[in-house]
Amino acid sequence: MEKHNISAIGTALVYMTVILGCFYGCEQEETGDLLLSDIHVVNVIRGELIESQDVLIVDGRIKRIIPHGQGNITANLEIKATGKYVMPGFWDMHVHFRTRKLERDSFSLQLLEENKDLLPLYVANGVTSVYDMGTDIIDSLRLWRDQIHSGKIIGPNIYLTGPKIEGNKAIFAGSIKIGDRDDVKNAIAQLTEMEVGGVKIMGAGDLEVENYYELLKLVKKQGLQSFSHDLEILSAEESSNQGLSALAHLRGIIHECFEEYDSVVAQMNTKGVRTPFHPEYNSYVDFMISRLDTTILRNKLDKMALNGTALISTVHYNAYRATPSSYENVFFKPLRYVGPLFRRDVKARYERFGKASAQQMDYIKQVHQGNTQVLNMLPKTSAILLVGTDAGFGNRAPGTGYFRELEVLASGGLSNAYILKAATWNAARFAGMSESEGTVDIGKKADLVLLEKNPLGHLPTEETLWGVIRNGEWFGEDRLQGILKSLEEKHDKNSGN
Ligand SMILES: [Zn+2]
Repeated sequence: MEKHNISAIGTALVYMTVILGCFYGCEQEETGDLLLSDIHVVNVIRGELIESQDVLIVDGRIKRIIPHGQGNITANLEIKATGKYVMPGFWDMHVHFRTRKLERDSFSLQLLEENKDLLPLYVANGVTSVYDMGTDIIDSLRLWRDQIHSGKIIGPNIYLTGPKIEGNKAIFAGSIKIGDRDDVKNAIAQLTEMEVGGVKIMGAGDLEVENYYELLKLVKKQGLQSFSHDLEILSAEESSNQGLSALAHLRGIIHECFEEYDSVVAQMNTKGVRTPFHPEYNSYVDFMISRLDTTILRNKLDKMALNGTALISTVHYNAYRATPSSYENVFFKPLRYVGPLFRRDVKARYERFGKASAQQMDYIKQVHQGNTQVLNMLPKTSAILLVGTDAGFGNRAPGTGYFRELEVLASGGLSNAYILKAATWNAARFAGMSESEGTVDIGKKADLVLLEKNPLGHLPTEETLWGVIRNGEWFGEDRLQGILKSLEEKHDKNSGN
């Protein structure tokens, strides 16, 4: 009897040894598509590093993350990434794809092609998701989005707002015009038909305030997101109270943070000073920014956060626009990779800036200072910051501008951890994708950025970008450079240089 018991215990021990042994060392081989071996994983929510991990990717998703060498993992492609860092791909929450023309003549057809060529440029700079803030080529964008999804072409995830919504005196091509309440309903119906995720509203111009608020309410009811800017005469705080999802530019709040805001706006309304085209507009806005009170700003930021309204940065434009010596590096360098029409447009724009009066330059500097005050205040509040560049035809080329945007956020006083979270997790959460994107975690989509240096200590730049994973597909340095080179060659040939 006693002997039998001993034997039973012995057998149990053998089983336990086998089970435990396999758990720690000899478990079944696991295979996948891509293995990042011995890489430091950045936790963007906590601003922490998990050192030396093996990350297995299967079917475009992260299947396993385990301490390096502790699993029996193989993959079709193994990337030895010792000393490298992986974080979620960047989200650019304010971009444009557009031709600024509705007729399809040879000019707009070429621009259409140039817009399509922007798609791989985003990926080559680590931007794996973009939110378009108003387009006149919605059909093409939807087609490209599907082609990207099915792997036919390289590009980021695309989120859409469709054509902009403006008042009856719309200034953008293809905008949906709002004159009365019926137009509000029709606009939402049209946009829903286009399967957009959000709605872009141009606040300035002749869009009536009541119609604007009605829009915000209906958009929310429809389960869509609303984006608005040019809010000089429409308060960001009040827009937030009415249901606004995000301010399209940080600068949208710098005009209203002073005691006499209501009386100044009433004066502007009486005089009909409603758009930047009015001769008195700039001096009013000038005055408004110069009165910025940081206590009022702080309260507004907290209230907006409480309402769930986010702020999209787009700060590098004004930061660098006031210093023409930086144009070459910031605005012209990325033009190498875009088409000739795009290049010509941006060059012409900056030539105009070069001729700006001292007063205009002062205004630009003032906006930058206002933006910096907001950036400084953000970490002291519960504000939700998203990162956007406002890249696109008519503005600036996509690409390295994203890194310049991160730099300006840092020079405004934000920590790297704060910025990285804004660039990834905040955006994924805002877009309703937090279950599947925005962090490097098991089960999440493999849209990732790989870096040479720890981004928590050294803000990501084009120099430290070591690789990109888009939908599980590996783009190492050579492949990223190859994308840039082929774009450069194609556009040089087209421009006849
Ligand atoms: Zn924009």
